[in-house]
Amino acid sequence: MVRTPPTGWIEVIVGSMFSGKSEELIRRLRRAQIARQRVQTFKPAVDSRFADDHIVSHSELRIPSVSAHSAAEMLSLVHKDTEVVGIDEGQFFDAGLPAACAALAGRGMRVIVAGLDQDYLGKPFEPMPHLLAIAEFITKTRAICVVCGNPANHTQRLVTSHDRVLLGAQGTYEARCRRCFDPTLTGAVSQAAADDAEDTADAPEIARQP
Ligand code: ADP
Ligand code: ZN
Repeated sequence: MVRTPPTGWIEVIVGSMFSGKSEELIRRLRRAQIARQRVQTFKPAVDSRFADDHIVSHSELRIPSVSAHSAAEMLSLVHKDTEVVGIDEGQFFDAGLPAACAALAGRGMRVIVAGLDQDYLGKPFEPMPHLLAIAEFITKTRAICVVCGNPANHTQRLVTSHDRVLLGAQGTYEARCRRCFDPTLTGAVSQAAADDAEDTADAPEIARQP
């Protein structure tokens, strides 16, 4: 049998805010570094909440990273001999991110992308759904609902804003379960979300599922 070189692959870590995506990404990247693999880490230039040159978790874990203004720029910054590429806040990258990750995996690299799978209205947050479709490995992280303690899969916005991208953490957002999540809470509900709510009301067979 002819031995072929190992392929690359894509790992995606998704969940709500505070669910531990950055912690999990940092954990995987640290292990690769300990094993002396060549690691590069990126985040979108838009996310400068904590530090421009680090990925920082809400629990204060941190790892150096480079800010990229686009998926194309990120791709151009990856060295030829890099073995592992880590990307945080994937939802703030442009639609070119899945193709860029596929190109890196095609070169034999392990690509790990963390990001929000839903926005503050509970809508799929592009380009993460696309990445979920093409990834070899998917991890869904959950926070704990701050209202009732159930597994939290939603990011509740606590301030009024219709902007999809509104940077902030504690005080601006909190983790909620599906029962306690209320996209209308701040009045910041789009017509699309209102239409969806009506659609759901028209589908009792779905609503009755346990
Ligand atoms: P993410 O990248 O998904 O936003 P982080 O990895 O940055 O998450 O942060 C996870 C940390 O957030 C947890 O280890 C914990 O310290 C903190 N945290 C704050 N609120 C919650 C919550 N409601 N449930 C779980 N962890 C929380
Ligand atoms: Zn709850």
